[in-house]
Amino acid sequence: MYTNNKIQSYHLDRSAVIYVRQSSAYQVENNKESQRRQYDLHKSALQLGWHENQVIIIDEDLGISGAKSDNRPGYQKLVSMIALRKVGVIFGIEVSRLTRNCRDWYELLEIASTFDTLIADEEAIFNPADYNDRLLLGLKGTISEAELHQIKCRMVRGRLNKAKRGDLEINLPIGYERDELGKIRKSPDESVRTAIETIFSLFQKLGSVRGILLELCRRKQELPYHKTTPGIGRKIAWHKATYDAIYLILTNPTYAGVYSYGRRKKTYNPVDKITSVNTVAQENCEVFIKDHHEGYTTYEDYQNNIKMMEENHYRNQMSIGAAREGKALLQGIVYCQSCGLKMRPRYSSQRYYYCCDRDHRRFGEPVCGWASACRVDNAIVDVALQILNEGTVDLTFQLMERHKKEEEESYKQWEQKMKRLDYEANLARKRYESVDPENRLVASTLESEWNTKLTALQVAKIEFEKFYPKGEKIKFTAPEVKNLLHSLKEKWTTDKISIQDKKEILRCLIERVFINTKGKVLAIKIIWQGQIVTTLDVPKYLFSSSHLYHKIKKMAAKNTDEEIADILNQAGYLTVKNKLWTPRRVMDFRLSNQIASGFTKNEKLKINSGYVCSQEAAKKIGVAITTIQHWFNLGILEGRQRIAKQSKLWIYLDSDIIQNLNGAASFSNTIKTFRSVMKTQGFKQNEVVQWAKANNHRILRLQRGKAFHFYIQPCITNLNKAILDRSM
Ligand SMILES: [Zn+2]
Repeated sequence: MYTNNKIQSYHLDRSAVIYVRQSSAYQVENNKESQRRQYDLHKSALQLGWHENQVIIIDEDLGISGAKSDNRPGYQKLVSMIALRKVGVIFGIEVSRLTRNCRDWYELLEIASTFDTLIADEEAIFNPADYNDRLLLGLKGTISEAELHQIKCRMVRGRLNKAKRGDLEINLPIGYERDELGKIRKSPDESVRTAIETIFSLFQKLGSVRGILLELCRRKQELPYHKTTPGIGRKIAWHKATYDAIYLILTNPTYAGVYSYGRRKKTYNPVDKITSVNTVAQENCEVFIKDHHEGYTTYEDYQNNIKMMEENHYRNQMSIGAAREGKALLQGIVYCQSCGLKMRPRYSSQRYYYCCDRDHRRFGEPVCGWASACRVDNAIVDVALQILNEGTVDLTFQLMERHKKEEEESYKQWEQKMKRLDYEANLARKRYESVDPENRLVASTLESEWNTKLTALQVAKIEFEKFYPKGEKIKFTAPEVKNLLHSLKEKWTTDKISIQDKKEILRCLIERVFINTKGKVLAIKIIWQGQIVTTLDVPKYLFSSSHLYHKIKKMAAKNTDEEIADILNQAGYLTVKNKLWTPRRVMDFRLSNQIASGFTKNEKLKINSGYVCSQEAAKKIGVAITTIQHWFNLGILEGRQRIAKQSKLWIYLDSDIIQNLNGAASFSNTIKTFRSVMKTQGFKQNEVVQWAKANNHRILRLQRGKAFHFYIQPCITNLNKAILDRSM
């Protein structure tokens, strides 16, 4: 069948290479025929005139696909041998064995023609340097590549179609298996099912993977997993719960009854020669069938869980950490409001602070913020102790009830585990007993297996007893706890509780604390367990007590500094330096703590109370300051002045008052002059004002000629019309 006129003597001087390759390990294992045919080419080489010792078989690439060349050491070796003019002919049963990639194929042809190497298959021998042969070889290469493509397409399409029906056998996670008909069903092993159900129910309660892990560790509960042993196959085994195992269960949509296919996509980068696997978003999966089989959770819950875990991820970057020693009670749960980073406690001699200084330490940036830990702690402890009242006791007892149920659940799982271990030990014993004692080798293996099972059972029993100690548990009654809470405050302040315990108590109540350190007041946001938020301000200024701060802040909106000083003095409060309060001291306190006031000229710290200082009032109405004081004395203007004509005067002004007094009001027939009222009523000037106010008449100031005069515009509906009529 070969025409050997293409073989020249120099070909025969060189080696004949037989290239043997099969694409997959499966083919290598099972398709012996093809392999035999490939090795048979050896005979053809001898027939064509090569000597036994000239024939080289390259079979390093068995089990490697021909789609690429760079992962095939045999192929690489072949190319380099050709380039060294050591190869006269290359044999392969089909050219497809050499390569299934056109680029590599033409490269091989090019090299072979340059170095005068022939290419042969079972049928014929080709000279790549010859035009017709080259054309034929090119075609063969193209067909070979197309063939591979078609095979792939057929396989992929077949798989996809099957997957679209939900029938393709995907790898099932623990807790699922296939029945005789190939349908997915929950594992018949109850302990496996309960373990997985526990994870989902715990996530509903605890909301975090770590939380579940800690809880499972506390309960000493193990998780099932698939253990693959060569020769035996997949078996269910149990091991300690791990974060990854819980995470994988929670994030696998199979547990929500979803059948998905094509979540992972392989891409090959020919430039970098790297194959990467990308996981695509669920909605972009090729196949995504909801309600395909019975789930351990609903699809909605599954989605919520994923969302929650994403949120947790952000939070975990700022995780709490354990309560450590040191006086700062909120260590580990304090965050900076402005940059979101955790504030760490810093201790210097007697004082201690919460400090947001990560960038300061890392990059030498200015310290972001600091707060006196003592002040923050005191303020928060106050609130926390207030919250621990009798109402919380009732809530706690409800919670304990819930906890009891969880314990029962856990107890059930333990029982199941013990049963399982007991069963396994029994099985091992039976196996041992059934073996012929003469068969010592088998007997001793089975005996050691039995021993292992017995030990496992024993260990589990000890753990179980440790976890559920016999005898009465300590039980509290609600009144006892209430009593305890009453004394908590006292014990807290008299330092009968250790700092470590105080921290733990606070952590039980508080999830996180955010502090805004910008400005002169620390704005604290307490996020309680359960996400309820309380905000409170604490003065940053070291000489201000928190109590006075809140007292003064409350008063400042409605009282002048003079009034505040009086109130504080009357109540017996002194300044930090044990001095009486003066308006000046109140103002200083306000300014150093940035307390806004209704009686201030400082625009930044002003609360609109309607009151302005006499200078401003004079400016707005367009009169002298002394006039304002005079009008205030008469009662035309309302205001606040502690000591008549001496201390600071605050005048109440609004647009109506300004308009009535600045001369801009219009004349009307009903208005009366002050003088006429004084005359008819026998009033003094201030009595006119009092009378007018008492009867809701308007006091107007209008210009007549060059001079301004006061007038009264009567409230017409009023009965006093009669009096006015008489005065006319
Ligand atoms: Zn910060």
